[in-house]
Amino acid sequence: MSDASVAHSGEDRELTDGFHLVIDALKLNGVKTIYNVPGIPITDLGRMAQAAGIRVISFRHEQHAGNAAAIAGYLTKQPGICLTVSAPGFLNGLTALANATTNCFPMILISGSSEREIVDLQQGDYEEMDQLAIAKPLCKAAFRILHAADIGIGIARAIRAAVSGRPGGVYLDLPAKLFSQVMDAEQGAKSLVKVIDAAPAQIPAAASIKRALDVLKSAQRPLVILGKGAAYAQVDASIREFIETSGVPFLQMSMAKGLLPDTHPQSAGAARSTVLKESDVVMLIGARLNWLLSHGKGKTWGDAPKKFIQIDIEPKEMDSNVEIVAPVVGDIGSCVTAFLQGMGTNWPKPPAAWMDMVAAKRDENIAKMAPRLMNNKSPMDFHGALGVLRSVIKDHPDMILVNEGANTLDLARGVIDMYQPRKRLDVGTWGVMGIGMGFSIAAAIETGKPVLAVEGDSAFGFSGMEVETICRYNLPICIVVFNNNGIYRGTDVNTNGTDPATTVFVKDSRYDLMMQAFGGVGVTATSPSELLTAVKAAIESGQPTLINAVIDPSSGTESGRIGNLNPQSVVKKK
Ligand code: ADP
Ligand code: MG
Repeated sequence: MSDASVAHSGEDRELTDGFHLVIDALKLNGVKTIYNVPGIPITDLGRMAQAAGIRVISFRHEQHAGNAAAIAGYLTKQPGICLTVSAPGFLNGLTALANATTNCFPMILISGSSEREIVDLQQGDYEEMDQLAIAKPLCKAAFRILHAADIGIGIARAIRAAVSGRPGGVYLDLPAKLFSQVMDAEQGAKSLVKVIDAAPAQIPAAASIKRALDVLKSAQRPLVILGKGAAYAQVDASIREFIETSGVPFLQMSMAKGLLPDTHPQSAGAARSTVLKESDVVMLIGARLNWLLSHGKGKTWGDAPKKFIQIDIEPKEMDSNVEIVAPVVGDIGSCVTAFLQGMGTNWPKPPAAWMDMVAAKRDENIAKMAPRLMNNKSPMDFHGALGVLRSVIKDHPDMILVNEGANTLDLARGVIDMYQPRKRLDVGTWGVMGIGMGFSIAAAIETGKPVLAVEGDSAFGFSGMEVETICRYNLPICIVVFNNNGIYRGTDVNTNGTDPATTVFVKDSRYDLMMQAFGGVGVTATSPSELLTAVKAAIESGQPTLINAVIDPSSGTESGRIGNLNPQSVVKKK
């Protein structure tokens, strides 16, 4: 309804508009925080949302706002909201939207866009781009709202699409004109939709539960693998009960670490290669058999024949890489509850020979690693620095650990034990760099807990400017930059010219000064003991802190643990 028609009605009716309807719809559905970068046409939307009591966190670049929204979704099971400007801002946010979808994180990218009529005729509008078409293949669902009266239903659709079934990213296109469209306030209020039971329970079929338990019972060398889907489900106590009732050794995928403490007696984390090779029945709970698990085949999995049980909310995930003999489709909470009922109280424990073998291998590997973690070398190697951070998380198990890099990621994942669910946030399914500051900021805001971000110097560079955001909102985030002067390592030399090698950075950079530039605390640490002192001070003060941790430039390997994924040239150099 236009302004005019309201005026002609002669009544003194209250009006609302697109801006207010968007905000009211988000509030009605419990949205508390928006992660955004202001600009045309959504600057006022951010201002008005803030005025209406939604927390609006403004970033320096949309990719990081998007990553923040995505991880907020993972941590809370509510879609995280990212708000961007049209075309370039939208494209910057899109990387995060695609990454969220790949990782099964629920988020909604709301982007302002230019005028449909002009965009569709390609007449050259300000920031012209057919954003809906571009977003569609990169997310779970994409919608555009053209009429103010459809805002309620549009936002409801976006929320439901993001969190129901397998969670993922949703794109919501809001053309500039929508915001100033006016309608009768009472009708507007009526048009809003509060989404009821946005992620309904998906109950597994009884026969699938029985089939899975029969396979599990038949195992001589069973293994459970917990993935980030299991952590996302927030049914931590039932999962623990299931693991302990079954008595089966378990592996936790990177972001599932801490779902049960890594120090749990059934944890096979330190015997990973042994259990993958030797197991005969593998039960996957919210973990995909993708590249991170070598697709369930090949050398990693050894010669012992395997039977796979898989629990997932997404039916299409079954048989994606190898045959799944016992598929269980449902939400993890409902599935685990059904397993516990089916198992009763006298479930037989796995054979002692298997348990002993796993425990012996684990203890051997832990003992081998221990002295390397205690070295106090200066400059530090990765193990010396990580040994210290491991003790920090042990003393502060409720801190959130954000981790990205190559060596910094692979080694930290193995070294730093986690004790509580959803405390480890990292590069996820794509192994993507650039999540560091976005994840850290949202983790601090959504949980109120202190954050320790362990960052390779290269990884940090992707989102480093957001230290200003961290200082602006005064967040309790301690960033440790593992500075080895480059990507993978800082010792490469270009022998064919005067340019530096492609993988090196400015030597002895002072990342700590970046934090000082915005009023935070910046420290350089050259030894594990200095690092420990600096991290402790950061936790104590709660101040934004960046520790430039000087790592020996020669420590580190090409691509960390996944160097084998680099293609090799077969052409000989002349
Ligand atoms: P990881 O990287 O830790 O191995 P993945 O991201 O590969 O984990 O797998 C997570 C899986 O969990 C996805 O296949 C997804 O469909 C599934 N999932 C997510 N949430 C739930 C849920 N609530 N119930 C069941 N499965 C879920
Ligand atoms: Mg480096």
